Amino acid sequence: MSVSPDSSAAVVPEAHVVGTYHPPKEMLENHPSKPHLASFEEYQKLYKQSITEPDVFWAERARELLSWSKDFQTVHSGSLVNGDNAWFLEGELNASYNCVDRHAHKDPNRVAIIYEADEPGEGRNVTYGELLREVSKLAHVLTNLGVRKGDTVAIYLPMIPEAIVALLACSRIGAIHSVVFAGFSSDSLRDRVVDAQSKVVITTDEGKRGGKLIGTKKIVDEALQQCPDVRNVLVYKRTGADINMTPGRDLWWHEEVEKYPAYYTPVAMASEDPLFLLYTSGSTGKPKGVAHSTAGYLLGAAMTGKYVFDIHDGDRYFCGGDVGWITGHSYVVYAPLLLGISTVVFEGTPAYPNFSRYWDIIEEHKVTQFYVAPTALRLLKRAGDHHVRNEMKHLRVLGSVGEPIAAEVWKWYYDVVGKGRAQICDTYWQTETGSNVITPLAGVTPTKPGSASLPFFGIEPALVDPVTGEEIHGNDVEGVLAFKQAWPSMARTVWGAHKRYMETYLHVYKGFYFTGDGAARDHEGFYWIRGRVDDVVNVSGHRLSTAEIEAALIEHHSITEAAVVGVADELTGQAVNAFVAVKEGTEINDALRKEFVTQVRRSIGPFAAPKAIYVVPDLPKTRSGKIMRRILRKIVAGEEDQLGDITTLSDPSVVAKIIETVHEQR
Ligand code: ATP
Ligand code: MG
Repeated sequence: MSVSPDSSAAVVPEAHVVGTYHPPKEMLENHPSKPHLASFEEYQKLYKQSITEPDVFWAERARELLSWSKDFQTVHSGSLVNGDNAWFLEGELNASYNCVDRHAHKDPNRVAIIYEADEPGEGRNVTYGELLREVSKLAHVLTNLGVRKGDTVAIYLPMIPEAIVALLACSRIGAIHSVVFAGFSSDSLRDRVVDAQSKVVITTDEGKRGGKLIGTKKIVDEALQQCPDVRNVLVYKRTGADINMTPGRDLWWHEEVEKYPAYYTPVAMASEDPLFLLYTSGSTGKPKGVAHSTAGYLLGAAMTGKYVFDIHDGDRYFCGGDVGWITGHSYVVYAPLLLGISTVVFEGTPAYPNFSRYWDIIEEHKVTQFYVAPTALRLLKRAGDHHVRNEMKHLRVLGSVGEPIAAEVWKWYYDVVGKGRAQICDTYWQTETGSNVITPLAGVTPTKPGSASLPFFGIEPALVDPVTGEEIHGNDVEGVLAFKQAWPSMARTVWGAHKRYMETYLHVYKGFYFTGDGAARDHEGFYWIRGRVDDVVNVSGHRLSTAEIEAALIEHHSITEAAVVGVADELTGQAVNAFVAVKEGTEINDALRKEFVTQVRRSIGPFAAPKAIYVVPDLPKTRSGKIMRRILRKIVAGEEDQLGDITTLSDPSVVAKIIETVHEQR
């Protein structure tokens, strides 16, 4: 928040607090049974236990939510400072067994996957019984390709049911899946295949997204020119396109699976055996190959699925995140399947064939929980409310993830999408945390637009003074967000670079897990994520959060997206520069720019007023939709030749347009 260090003002000024929203009455009335916790007080009680007696708390949950082939003896060992945390030792389990078999045994006809193809109407359902057979057959194929326990397998697949089959087949045989988002270029794919030392790649002939065809296999072929260690490529036929198949290396999925029986005995894995690797989005620099363990990760996914999203038997869960990101791992695949419900796998985009696509899917499949990133919500809000014509009356939970959600967008989500009947859960977490760490529990936690609210079980947040490294106690304070205790689903290492893991997360402030994000804790102990610490702007000693200034700008009716960076200033140390995208047809002139500045002055204060405002056609975003402020910072500093790694940008051509705008306006 925007107070000078010595100021005694509240960290969240009155004007920003839109009020507290309690779990909607209609959500509770239309509930299939009732939320898993009876009250907010029960959360507080359990939360306290999860911090003071973590071993007792987690042992009970691990036995309740996961099925073990061998029970564990030691709940937790290791520490943050030593970077050797391990959970549920001596225990053994298998991820695919937990996600598939146990539900298939009970009810093979229950729907596991609702596949919504790019073209409306072309999808299909996959039952738990079918999923068990598909996963088993593919497990045989991988074994026959020489994949062994502990090997990594690169998965470069679009959002089709086979992506889930591939992840689970890996876990069934104890292989480590390494999913690479299928929107990445051949260079990015190559880097990840090489870094993970994968010898097998699973892909498709082509992808289909937003009515367009994507030459997936072609990209793989290009990447593999520089991956000498890859022995085999398994190709799923999605479109039937005429593609190049390298003899001896490339194999057709459908031909291989026909050779094998439809049951494969799951391999018992030790709790700490790695389940997967996943590269971070690359918002702040070179992506890191984050490694997650089997038991701890699964427990985090199941626990948050149950308590954050209020998952109950018979629910139909729709997470719009791609399986190429952590959100897709934890909330398209693992959480819903661990809990035995139906998960929607959506191949397309929210804009195809029109801006009603998400809402049509929710309506048609009677979706109960929907989970998406603010970047998609901003796009849909900009498109206009008339697209959201559906009733969507089964929705109980509306989740948000990936970036701070501005209050303006939060309220739109609540009113227009949820019609006041569903609870908004702004879930804060990272690839490295494995599952939600600061988040409301649907049906239980009161919420405030713009705040991710309170810590999840086992998460003990601390706000740290960035200069002294000391913890800041009490409420109405802000600092760097860190965690004081290990939790089961935290990442165990960075693949092949444990030193980087220690330096990035555990040795920045010794004894804490460092998130890299700034946060405020308000007078009621609610957390407000302020964006990356590196993105903080310091004007005359006021530490300003980019998220907050951006949220203020978005309150202006013409602005659809905003990004704020600091630029060196002789007088004030740093000055605020803002980049904004505006509604189509908006006429840009000085009067309007002035309005934008006034908006920030009024909303936060004169010291936060942007010194320059650049109106740009689009902002630089990662492929997961996050704004890459470090690129904007380089541009305003005149260091366009030092942009660093921009391979994770979704549309690199916006950079040139932004540079042009900045030059023109100077
Ligand atoms: P890299 O680590 O490579 O720079 P990244 O941090 O963008 O990439 P992710 O792990 O996908 O990769 O994103 C985690 C980050 O996303 C968090 O550290 C935080 O900055 C942001 N974030 C996620 N959820 C929220 C949220 N609900 N509110 C605010 N910020 C969020
Ligand atoms: Mg990160």
